[in-house]
Amino acid sequence: MADTGRELRGTGVSQGVGAGPVRRFLAQVAEPPAGELRVGAADAERARAADALEAVAADLENRGLRAGDRAGDAARDVLAAQALMARDPGLAEEVARRIEAGGSAERAVYDAFGTYREMLAGAGEYLAARVADLDDVRDRAIAALRGEPRGPGAGPADAAEPPGGEPYVLVARDLAPADTALLDPSRVAAFVTEEGGPTSHTAILARALGVPAVVACAGAAALADGTPVLVDGATGVVRIGASAAELRAAREDAARRRAASSVPTGPGATADGRRVALLANIGGPKDLAAAVDAGAEGIGLYRTEFLFLNRDSPPGAPEQEDAYRAALDAFPGGRVIVRVLDAGADKPLGFLPPPSPEPNPALGERGVRMLRRHPDVLAGQLDALARAAAGGGARLEVMAPMVADAAEAAWFADACREAGIRTGIGVMVELPSAALRARDIVVAVDFVSIGTNDLAQYAFGADRQVGALARLQDPWGPALLDLVALTADAAGDAGKGCGVCGEAAADPALACVLVGLGVTSLSMAAMAIPAVRTAVARNTAAQCREAAVAARAAATAGDARAAARAALTG
Ligand code: PEP
Ligand code: MG
Repeated sequence: MADTGRELRGTGVSQGVGAGPVRRFLAQVAEPPAGELRVGAADAERARAADALEAVAADLENRGLRAGDRAGDAARDVLAAQALMARDPGLAEEVARRIEAGGSAERAVYDAFGTYREMLAGAGEYLAARVADLDDVRDRAIAALRGEPRGPGAGPADAAEPPGGEPYVLVARDLAPADTALLDPSRVAAFVTEEGGPTSHTAILARALGVPAVVACAGAAALADGTPVLVDGATGVVRIGASAAELRAAREDAARRRAASSVPTGPGATADGRRVALLANIGGPKDLAAAVDAGAEGIGLYRTEFLFLNRDSPPGAPEQEDAYRAALDAFPGGRVIVRVLDAGADKPLGFLPPPSPEPNPALGERGVRMLRRHPDVLAGQLDALARAAAGGGARLEVMAPMVADAAEAAWFADACREAGIRTGIGVMVELPSAALRARDIVVAVDFVSIGTNDLAQYAFGADRQVGALARLQDPWGPALLDLVALTADAAGDAGKGCGVCGEAAADPALACVLVGLGVTSLSMAAMAIPAVRTAVARNTAAQCREAAVAARAAATAGDARAAARAALTG
């Protein structure tokens, strides 16, 4: 292959340009031969398998703890969930049963994971969509049994890095969270993966680390080690054989980005002074320090379901109250928008199962639908929120997920008032029905916040967990921009606020377009705030409007992005 002057195209999922020689991480653990039998006694073989699984679980937890400062909660939560998979008692029983029947530990682990995977696939979409994480745990356990380097302690973070300390572009079929979490962002110029989608763990962790990333990039794994490439995490273009001058310019850009990301500066506003509040998305108190450090003006999305995951019952009132008060205390005088429990679909909770098996959980009882079935859980959460906010310095606002129409919005507003929360009541616009009839919805509430991740999923009919459909989850899709425009217009006409708290807000150029469409606040991962603040500050409100008009006039996401960028400064 003539590896110069070519381009590969994928989906840009983490902003910025990164350049350097390719370093591939394609290690795959070979499947143990079918029917492989154990050599030793069953007891010893069972102990070998159990030790390997425990070693993997401990290693994953350890990686989560070590990742804490770099990739934050995103990594820790994912790795803790993987450790739970390795320690699952049902899996251990299945492995033991297969070893008892004569199988080798390696094959028993392989087959038990296979059975387990099918069981999980049948149990719900979230777990089916996490098959990559499950496969990673399986491969780590098999590698540990074989004494292969892919096992505990191995991974690209620990392998030898290219000489000379030159930053490299990490290329892989997919990256497991355990591999990504420990990478040193000052050594990795960019990630490129063949698999994955905008909401895959690779994408989420890349954004948390502040490393440019392109996923769903066909052909990437065939690039030769050492090939110089230029990766644009905004457009998804990977340029092969970039010149030395281009590589230098990209490195300078990366250095500027790193410098900018450590300087929090004042409230968000356009170049001509139109205020755009820049808020942070958090999953719990552990994320607050990063939000404050990034200069967030408050919290625009507190994903409270993370407090409820992996439990048999909801956290008690004092625990909830503490977790909410921590966020309110972190932003004296600021806004803290707490989303009530968004359970179901990709975030199933053990104590809130759907009433019957759902063929399409994303279209089933999730979000506010689940809360209507369990009003006691909502009431408990709202009571805890009201108590946490009493006498505090920050302004508590609450919002409901997955609201379909005005009746659901009014139901939620009533529940809030019953709990003593009378102002700052909002709903998320995540369904096309809510965007189309936002005019009716804003009558019942004080603000709306657009969840572009789910709005894209439902508008394009493309499951956000499926990497192969990444093209259809692009928030630049003009249809999505139209839905945002409808919502922002309706809110603006009613004199109510309209935020965006989906991943779209973290893209600096798209953030300007959203402002041009009438959005009044942007909430995103803390890492993204400095770049978004800079982009918004470089453009006037009129430029943002012009970019929005140009983007909506385009027929495709790619053309919308190009048209908007042409209208924007920087
Ligand atoms: C969204 O859907 O855009 C959103 C912000 O909510 P979540 O990603 O938690 O579903
Ligand atoms: Mg959502």
